[in-house]
Amino acid sequence: MIPESKKDVIIVGAGASGLLCAAECGRRGRSVLVLDHAARAVSKVLISGGGRCNFTNLNAAPDHYRSRNPHFCKSALARFTPRDILSLVEKHHIAYYEKEAGQMFCVKSAREIAALLGQECVQAGVETRLSCSISNIARDDRFAVTTDQGVFRSDALVIATGGLSYTKLGASGFGLDVAKQFGIKVVPPTPALVPFLFPGRAQTAFKELAGISLDAALTCGGKRCEGSILFTHRGLSGPAALQASLYWTPGEPLLIDLLPHGDILAVLMARRRSRMELRTLLAEHLPRRFVDVWCGMMTVSKPLDQTSDKELKEVSEGLHAWSVLPKGTEGYDTAEVTAGGVDTDELSSKTMGSKKVPGLYFIGEVVDVTGELGGYNLHWAWASGFAAGQTA
Ligand SMILES: Cc1cc2nc3c(=O)[nH]c(=O)nc-3n(C[C@H](O)[C@H](O)[C@H](O)COP(=O)(O)OP(=O)(O)OC[C@H]3O[C@@H](n4cnc5c(N)ncnc54)[C@H](O)[C@@H]3O)c2cc1C
Repeated sequence: MIPESKKDVIIVGAGASGLLCAAECGRRGRSVLVLDHAARAVSKVLISGGGRCNFTNLNAAPDHYRSRNPHFCKSALARFTPRDILSLVEKHHIAYYEKEAGQMFCVKSAREIAALLGQECVQAGVETRLSCSISNIARDDRFAVTTDQGVFRSDALVIATGGLSYTKLGASGFGLDVAKQFGIKVVPPTPALVPFLFPGRAQTAFKELAGISLDAALTCGGKRCEGSILFTHRGLSGPAALQASLYWTPGEPLLIDLLPHGDILAVLMARRRSRMELRTLLAEHLPRRFVDVWCGMMTVSKPLDQTSDKELKEVSEGLHAWSVLPKGTEGYDTAEVTAGGVDTDELSSKTMGSKKVPGLYFIGEVVDVTGELGGYNLHWAWASGFAAGQTA
């Protein structure tokens, strides 16, 4: 006999957004059941921030998020701020620090954030079932979730199943399938915060640059992303490149400013009459190995007094606006997040509830709101989970 039980709220996904939402619903006196097909809860939190969990960013505001509707995230972000998650972290005596640019990390371990979520759920009386495989979701007067551990019914159903990357940690397209089942529109998902790949010919040159890291600014999709870039055997990684991938559309070139804080033309012109070779001068501003490969690809290195003004201008343009056309990205295997997802037009920005299907909610990464690198995605998980947790 398959057991049946009834709860006020069922949440699918025991990740960051699901557990925060569960604790909020439980605190309001709702009976809550969290279901997850993975054997372990909050797997992504555990590996986040290199094991130290960059759990929020003090600058969490709508301009750090990409969504088809950039206004959608405003309400949730205003009602659950970085101060709110810091208060929760302090309540659990977790030591934290600001690494840079508002990025807040645990001093010890991401395990502390996982424990915080677990304890909040226990205190709020939340029931959690892991290794629970869902085969069907139906809705008549309420929701019925059929699993290998029984059929569970509820008045509210919250989908918190995250994005598509890192399938080995339990990621799946389940949330998007549920949306489609109920006729809810989805913005096509794409991997984001992910390294770029370069096509064959460029890759040969890039192989020689592998391992070099430098400060740069990447422009694509109308956004300029500043920070460190890292050349890999296959393309480009590092914080600024990952950030740029959030705004990049396939087929679009990346404009790389290799000297974002200087004017190399002024430097070249000042040494106009010098016998110094171009590459020797450039090596004063960029890593030597990079200059050798870059000059081999882009120009002929001659003594400066034998290089024309036009050539120097071309060198400057090449260094400040180096145009490279990626063939793609490394994809979901290494992407930190999935951009796109449940169309925000379909949801209330106050509650995350579906406008079409009363009682159905979507929170976290499954929604078409994607943050930049630096704690913004977990902050969206908290803020959207909190919003749904006040109503579901
Ligand atoms: C390597 C890595 C590092 C990261 N570091 C950071 C960081 O430092 N700071 C930051 O802000 N963001 C970081 N992120 C992103 C962040 O972890 C996610 O955006 C965030 O966890 C999303 O929360 P969520 O609740 O929406 O989904 P998740 O936390 O991914 O949780 C989704 C849950 O749903 C479950 N699930 C999926 N499909 C099903 C199904 N069919 N049935 C039942 N359950 C299902 C999964 O098992 C999982 O437990 C990182 C991501 C990665 C991959």
